[in-house]
Amino acid sequence: MARKLYVIGNWKMYKTSREASAYIEALAPLVEGESACVYLAVPFTSIASASACAKETNIVIGAQNMNDAREGAFTGEIAGLMLKEAGAGFVLLGHSERRHIFGESNELIHKKILRAVRDDIQPVVCIGETALQRKSDQTQKVIEEQLVSALEAVPKEALDSLMIAYEPVWAIGTGKVPTLHQIQEIHHFCRQCIAQILGARKASKIPILYGGSVKPENAADIVALDDVDGLLAGGASLNVEAFSAIIRNASKEKTPKKVRKTTIKRVKK
Ligand code: PEP
Repeated sequence: MARKLYVIGNWKMYKTSREASAYIEALAPLVEGESACVYLAVPFTSIASASACAKETNIVIGAQNMNDAREGAFTGEIAGLMLKEAGAGFVLLGHSERRHIFGESNELIHKKILRAVRDDIQPVVCIGETALQRKSDQTQKVIEEQLVSALEAVPKEALDSLMIAYEPVWAIGTGKVPTLHQIQEIHHFCRQCIAQILGARKASKIPILYGGSVKPENAADIVALDDVDGLLAGGASLNVEAFSAIIRNASKEKTPKKVRKTTIKRVKK
């Protein structure tokens, strides 16, 4: 079983729908035929036009957030079904800006994951520790709590599409990147935690992406790591040349290969 390679761009609150269309028209020919699956998380207002532009391409359009309810009196919120109808194929959930600026808890993120699954939108669940948590040696504890809360009681059928993005909060938008050793260590730890929650077979299949100051220059080295199945780029994805270079560099480095039959050790409690 081969694990695919994914490169996701997160535009945050940038680009109007007109800018989004122009970007996708420019990006599509640059990444056509690359082995990575290319995803773009665009603002709500650009989902419909961006997915129309991306129709005949290998680019999948998604959202950056959604509400956990099917519908209801929630002024200013957006439902998964609305995103789906607009053309979103996936949704980022639990991005650190949602957790830290908008106060989203592990519990709320879990509810959003369940809703995304019911509404047939692929959830990309973001996890990661703050600088303070890393400094006080809490990284593994925080990551484990986030994964347990996110994944427990998620219906089995949902797990074929779910992805995890490990994004250390201190690396997002700062230009700081963990060492390659640190990235592999945490990705492997994530896989061990997932194995404890869902079993080793599922854990070996779930893609785990790295995010945090990814740029064309570090993309290849990061995806070359054993437990890294792709990249999530914020700032660099706003620029067509930079994002296409990330996709090209990552694709060149890691064409899908057989999943290694490594033994996943149990995590000590
Ligand atoms: C992000 O927004 O998820 C992100 C990783 O941002 P940046 O690449 O700018 O650090």
